[in-house]
Amino acid sequence: MADIKTIDDENFAGKRVLVRVDLNAPVDGEGNVTDDTRIRAALPTINKLIGDGARVILTSHRGRPAGEGFEEPFSLGPIARRLQELLGRDIVLSRALVGPDAQEVVDALEDGDVLLLENIRFDKREKKNDPEFARALADLADAYVNDAFGTAHRAHASTAGVAAYLPSYAGYLMEKEVATLTGMLDEPRRPFVAILGGSKVSDKIKVIDALLDKADTLIIGGGMCFTFLLAQGKAVGASLKEEDWVERAAAMIEKARERGVTLLLPTDVVAADAFSNDARTAIVSVDEIPADMMGLDIGPETAAAYAQAIGEAASVFWNGPMGVFEMPSFEAGTRTVAEAVAANEAADTIIGGGDSVAAVNKFDLADAMTFISTGGGASMELVQGEALPGVEALR
Ligand code: ADP
Ligand code: MG
Repeated sequence: MADIKTIDDENFAGKRVLVRVDLNAPVDGEGNVTDDTRIRAALPTINKLIGDGARVILTSHRGRPAGEGFEEPFSLGPIARRLQELLGRDIVLSRALVGPDAQEVVDALEDGDVLLLENIRFDKREKKNDPEFARALADLADAYVNDAFGTAHRAHASTAGVAAYLPSYAGYLMEKEVATLTGMLDEPRRPFVAILGGSKVSDKIKVIDALLDKADTLIIGGGMCFTFLLAQGKAVGASLKEEDWVERAAAMIEKARERGVTLLLPTDVVAADAFSNDARTAIVSVDEIPADMMGLDIGPETAAAYAQAIGEAASVFWNGPMGVFEMPSFEAGTRTVAEAVAANEAADTIIGGGDSVAAVNKFDLADAMTFISTGGGASMELVQGEALPGVEALR
C-alpha cells in the first residue's frame, strides 16, 4: 500500500468526493436489512469525509440487476434507510447515476452532506468498465475514494475505471483489508496454520497452492477433503468428489511433503445416508466410509486433532467450513474449529470467505477473532497472489 494514497493524506473540505463502497447487504421481503455488517464497515471512511466537510457521493451495487435501468427489487432504498440510522443524519438517494440530473443533485449538496447514487449496476456500462461511463461518474466529483474491498477483484467503472480521471485514494476499509491480508502472507508469525474447507477443491486449488508456500501447517476439511482422500487411495462413498481434480490433490500432497508443510487430513467423518439434517448418520473412519453414505462433516477425532494444531499456532488463516454447518447435524466440526481459533487469544486470527464468516457469526465468535475479512472473492484472490484491479487502479 506504500504507493497508494489513503484518505488520511488529504483534507477533503469543500470537495466533492465520489466514494465506492460495498453496501451489498442482504434485505428481506419487507425491505429490512437483515445483516448490516457491510454498511457498518463503510462508516469510518464516510465519517472521516463528513468530518472533513466533504460533499460525499456514495456509490455501490446491490445484487445482480439486468443493467437496463431502475428495478425496485435491487434498489438501494433499504440500504439508504439503514445507513441514515447508522450515520444519524439524512442522506439523499439519487435515481440518476450520471449526467445532468445527477449533476443537479450533486450541485445541491453542502459541505458535510451525503448523497447515495442508486444501484450502480442499473447501468450496464458499470460492469463493462465503459470508459465513457467512468468519465461521467468522474465528472460528478473532485476526488475518488475506493473503500469497496469486497468488489476490488472486479474491474468495473466505479471500482477501477473512474480512478483514471480523478485523484484517487484508498478508504480505511480497503487499507485495513489489504494491509492485514498481505501482512499475514508476507510476514506471518510462526507457526502459521492455514485451515481450508468449503465445498470444492476446484474452487480453492490456487489458494491451497499459495498457502503451501507460506504455511507451516495446512488443515483440510469440508467437501474438498474427499478429493484428497481419493488421492490417498481411499474410498469415499457418495461424498462430494471431483474425480478430475484427484491428480491435482495428489500433487498438493506431494508439494506439502517437499516443502515440509504438515498437511492434516481427516481421519474420521460424519457420514450420512442423505444430504439432509434428518439423515441417518454414523461416525466412521476414513478407511470405512460406506459406499452408500456421504461425509458431511469431519469427525470428532479429526476435529480434536485440528483444534490441537490450531491451539499451537501463532497465526491462523481460515477459509471454508469443515462441514455442512448450515445443518445442525453437521455443524460440530466447524464449531470445534471455530472455538479453537477463538480460544487462541495469543495468535493473529484471520477469517476470510463468505460462508466461513457466516459460520463464525452463527457461533457468535466474531468478536474473538483478530480480523474478519469483508471480501469473499477479493480476499481469496489476494491470498492467491493475484493483483486486485480495484487496488491497482489506485496506484
Ligand atoms: P467460503 O464461502 O467460506 O469460501 P465455500 O463457499 O467454499 O466457503 O464452501 C461453503 C459450503 O461448503 C457450505 O455451504 C457448506 O455446506 C459446504 N460444505 C462443507 N462441507 C461439505 C461437505 N462435506 N459436503 C458438501 N458440502 C460441504
Ligand atoms: Mg461461499
